[in-house]
Amino acid sequence: MRRCPHCSAFVPATLCPECDHRLAPPSRALARLRNAALGAGTLLTLAACYGAAYQPMP
Ligand SMILES: [Zn+2]
Repeated sequence: MRRCPHCSAFVPATLCPECDHRLAPPSRALARLRNAALGAGTLLTLAACYGAAYQPMP
C-alpha cells in the first residue's frame, strides 16, 4: 500500500481514491525482479515438499 504524495492518503492501486491523483505504476524491472523471486521461491518450496515427502523403501 502506497501513499498519495498529493494528499497522503493510502492508495490501494495507482489512483488515489481521495483526490484522483494518479501515481506512477511500479517499474517493470522491479516487477520482473519480484516475479523472478516468486518463481525461485515456488521452485524451492516444491523441491522442499517433494524432497521431504519422498521416503525410500527400506
Ligand atoms: Zn491523493
